[in-house]
Amino acid sequence: MSCLLRLHITGVGDAFTERYHNASFCIEEPQSGLRLQVDCPPAFPRVLADYRRHRAQQDQVGANLGIDTIDHLLITHLHGDHCGGTEAYLYMRRFLLGRKPTLLGAPQVLDALWPTRLSGGMERLLLSAPSWDAAGLSQRTAARASAQGDVSSDSGEGEAQDALQDQAALQDQAALQDPGGPLVSLGLLDYCERTDLHRGVTQLGPLRIERRFTRHHIPTTAIRVSLAGRKRPLFGYSADTAFDPDLIDWLAEADWVIHETNYGTHTPLSSLLLLPAGLKARMRLIHYPDALEPEESPITCLREGDVVELF
Ligand SMILES: [Zn+2]
Repeated sequence: MSCLLRLHITGVGDAFTERYHNASFCIEEPQSGLRLQVDCPPAFPRVLADYRRHRAQQDQVGANLGIDTIDHLLITHLHGDHCGGTEAYLYMRRFLLGRKPTLLGAPQVLDALWPTRLSGGMERLLLSAPSWDAAGLSQRTAARASAQGDVSSDSGEGEAQDALQDQAALQDQAALQDPGGPLVSLGLLDYCERTDLHRGVTQLGPLRIERRFTRHHIPTTAIRVSLAGRKRPLFGYSADTAFDPDLIDWLAEADWVIHETNYGTHTPLSSLLLLPAGLKARMRLIHYPDALEPEESPITCLREGDVVELF
């Protein structure tokens, strides 16, 4: 029998990791096939390709996880290790697939996503660029060679020629800094649909998603995910947070808890170890530092490439 939810663990590392991809995973509801990626680290296509390679060597489950098979992306917050791959994801959906995905997040996260993370690179698209064929290129080469020949044969006129060429190059560079077009101006909703996670439950296909803000530098949401007809959420995910017993109580109402751990204003492993044994047994760690050896961790670590089947 198929499980209720499947989690594809695409990254387990922190912001500074040299060992892993940054923390992220994809939720799959096997009956409908719906996939919801939670956070989108830099080099996201590579993250997914590494996951597929790993799964192809295992049991093939998740071996087709790709930008074309993930139609929904939830962003917990705007630190680069959690959202740095969004530009590539949206570009690939637009230019390679022509299918808009849905972006989910708290309004406080999504409102800032475009102006602070994406617009600088994504709001202007040139519709065309000059094209060159072989004949055009050899004509250009011949013209340049002839101009240089003229310069070296007559040094007096050469200086004037140099000045003219410098002037033309400057004008070219000025034009390239602000190309007049043809171009199109785009906004976030040209690339994706948007679903804001407000208080209460947000329904996405069969998924019921709740969010709660965490203790972090910028607006960040933990989530709980459930299915219609179930009393308890199937799992909760802390996202990035300082140790917060109230948040952990909220997450612990789910059957299963994915919690971050790290240094600084994150959650020390030593604090998680103070929790009741029953809760630690149904907790899995993510966003852990490179220095933590997963095999030696007193709370089980998620591993990159894992598939977790929930019930
Ligand atoms: Zn963060």
